[in-house]
Amino acid sequence: MRLATGNIGHESSTFTPVPTPYEAFTESSRGFHRGGEVVEAMRGTNTGCGGFIDGAVEYGYELVPLVWTFAEPSAPVQADAWVQLRTEFLQRLEAAMPVDGALLDLHGAMVLEGSQDGEGDLLAGVRAILGPDRPIFVTLDHHANISDAMNALSDVIIPCDTYPHIDLGERGFEAAGLITQTLRGEIAPCMALRRLPLLWTAGNANGTLPFDSVMARAFAYEQEPGILTASVAPGFAWADITDAGTTTVVVTDGDSEKAETTASGLAEDIFSRRAQFSPDLLSFEHVLAQISGSGPIVIADAQDNPGGGSPGDSTGVLRAFIEHDLQDALILTICDPETVVRAQAAGHGSEFDAEIGGKSASAQGPSVSVRATVEKLVNLEFVIRGPMYTGVTQKFGPTALLRIGGVRVAVTSNRLQVFSLECARALGIEPATQQWIAVKSSNHFRAAYEPIAGQVFRVAFPSVQSHDPRDLTYKNLRRPIFPLDSI
Ligand SMILES: [Zn+2]
Repeated sequence: MRLATGNIGHESSTFTPVPTPYEAFTESSRGFHRGGEVVEAMRGTNTGCGGFIDGAVEYGYELVPLVWTFAEPSAPVQADAWVQLRTEFLQRLEAAMPVDGALLDLHGAMVLEGSQDGEGDLLAGVRAILGPDRPIFVTLDHHANISDAMNALSDVIIPCDTYPHIDLGERGFEAAGLITQTLRGEIAPCMALRRLPLLWTAGNANGTLPFDSVMARAFAYEQEPGILTASVAPGFAWADITDAGTTTVVVTDGDSEKAETTASGLAEDIFSRRAQFSPDLLSFEHVLAQISGSGPIVIADAQDNPGGGSPGDSTGVLRAFIEHDLQDALILTICDPETVVRAQAAGHGSEFDAEIGGKSASAQGPSVSVRATVEKLVNLEFVIRGPMYTGVTQKFGPTALLRIGGVRVAVTSNRLQVFSLECARALGIEPATQQWIAVKSSNHFRAAYEPIAGQVFRVAFPSVQSHDPRDLTYKNLRRPIFPLDSI
């Protein structure tokens, strides 16, 4: 049994100024792997592909890797870049034929310049080569905007069930088991999808309501006989496309009616709780009023999360930390390559007049003009050891650790979400020793930081990507939809 595998991964925001050229993939921190390199790079990682590789050992199929890459979230993929990426992926698939099926770990929220549905376009190419009968099984990120085309072109779709996404590998392994059973003729998957008129705001994550109750309902359905998987994809609200938002996906063993009624039941349960899906970020003044006990006090600069496409250079948190003269305070990170170059020119241990951040868009600024000391100059790169994306490398590039009074800020050349403790440790700082730590992350940081935190707050510092969809201007999104419309 030979199964093609691969991924061209991207989560595309139509609200960010950060462009997505071909180099966003080839120079991506997560790599651009071809052929056998894919298995070498992804083995043992907590990703869908890591789960497929484990599946090959468990189920004895031969994995035929094509291309695996994942660009950091940003604007829709540029048209010429997409032609190049898609062409290479499909040429490698053609060359790999015959295969018995495909196991793909896509993101699910990729938008292209000129097309709203990146994954639908890729799957159309894969289906054209595989023909109508060979199975295509797809795992997705939790934040997938699942289109009708993706539903029609694949046999099974399994979005991950957690946020922070700590079950990507598990879902990959699950898909591996199901495609093996399918090819052996032991099961006949039958999938149904329901799209809800709901933009699910980002604060809803593991350990909060209504997230936990919604997922408990999905897991209860999975215990029913004949249901292979029942999933919820909250979608990605920062894509102004027709199909953005929440979907339910149910796969049964050969029972289309049960798939349809279960997908509807899950959708109705979610929609009945829609009033609970409200933006939940605090102001920094509210945080100060709620401080109690010991640190670290972990502040999520949730709206400037590079992992959701934001530029990562907003300055609200730095300004607040300096204004309040916080001590033992660490900010991870601000992306500002210009300031890194200036710090390098000033040299280790020197002071210089810095203009930090706020350069990508007016909503991200203004820059913080301040006298800063260059405490450290490093090439910030490490392997994640925490529960999220375990084993994956993050490359922040040349980085300057700057000190302004009791506040230290890591100013980086590359734009990445911070969700692991290794980011601080690679700078020589044990995060548990800090009183204040700010991370540019919406929720993923919680997996590693909650266990060491005294308190955790998610704060609404200004950014191009508000967490309240009512602050954003949508032109293509289907209407009516909650919470933009009163339904
Ligand atoms: Zn996600």
